[in-house]
Amino acid sequence: MIIDSHQHFVRLAKHPEVEGFRTAQLAGKNLDLPKISDADVAKSLEQVISLMDSRKIEVAFASPRAKAMATHEGTPEQNAIWADLNNGLIIRACMLTPGRFAPVGMLGQHPSCPSEQVAKQIERWTKEGFIAFNFDPDGTGGRWQNQPFTGKHNYPVFEAAQALDVPLVLHGSESINKNFPHTAVQYLVADITGFVQLMMAKDLFKDFPRLRFLIPHGGGALPCQIGRWRAIAKYNTWASPDEILGNGNVFVDTCVYNDLNMQMLFDAVPLDNILFGSECDGAFPGVVNVETHDHYDNTRRYVDDSKLNAADKARIFAANARRVYPRASRWIQA
Ligand SMILES: [Zn+2]
Repeated sequence: MIIDSHQHFVRLAKHPEVEGFRTAQLAGKNLDLPKISDADVAKSLEQVISLMDSRKIEVAFASPRAKAMATHEGTPEQNAIWADLNNGLIIRACMLTPGRFAPVGMLGQHPSCPSEQVAKQIERWTKEGFIAFNFDPDGTGGRWQNQPFTGKHNYPVFEAAQALDVPLVLHGSESINKNFPHTAVQYLVADITGFVQLMMAKDLFKDFPRLRFLIPHGGGALPCQIGRWRAIAKYNTWASPDEILGNGNVFVDTCVYNDLNMQMLFDAVPLDNILFGSECDGAFPGVVNVETHDHYDNTRRYVDDSKLNAADKARIFAANARRVYPRASRWIQA
């Protein structure tokens, strides 16, 4: 079995009525929630299901479009409604296609939002069947003006995530900073910033020993620069990358788009900490890698082509995802 742990329902998020609702909401107009038909939801999934079938990916963990989280915009109240709207669409899409998707949620974060409110959303949507939640470690649209996300101000979120056994996916969102285009820079900055903040947090994993974070996109710069963070950790007496990975608190996915860097990921990170992911048809739909003559985001190829043995590939393709996301089992048929 192959589980893609990193997918977004981008087409669903781009439905004109969904985008129109957010535009109106941010303009201060109180529109009724859009009513998207089952036919429209199903149509938005056709392309991605066909790609999953051609790549023999049985199940994907799917979340709302990351850019659309836009946690720096709106108000706490507006962002809670916006997150609920998106989560409602995600779970409908998962239920319309049994056995193909498991829902990962969006949270109504905002710089002025008390984290108790975000924790309540985690509780509500976990009860509905969500298996994990995207959490934006920046929350200021690429300006990085908040305190490190690992601080006590977010403890209610961590308490809920640990108690409910749902991992938090540290995923960046829209960047209003023109130096940091969202898919090219802001997401990768969020990955490695989140990872380093986890190394720096002295008490976090003492206070929450079972809390789990997934760092997408291969952990950002992790495969290329792990030696640097090993050195800095010793110099500053932070937790080392190997410690937070080895303790089972931090995991990465395989959203890495060439053979060389996939191999570096396998060399830098313990294989038990790597979950297959592709962002299938999300960040760069249809763009072809001249090395493989296939889509860049067909990351299955790079795992298949690697020197790993069959048992290690099986861990990365499915077993690790089932262990790290225990609530996914109700959505997986085989
Ligand atoms: Zn993503």
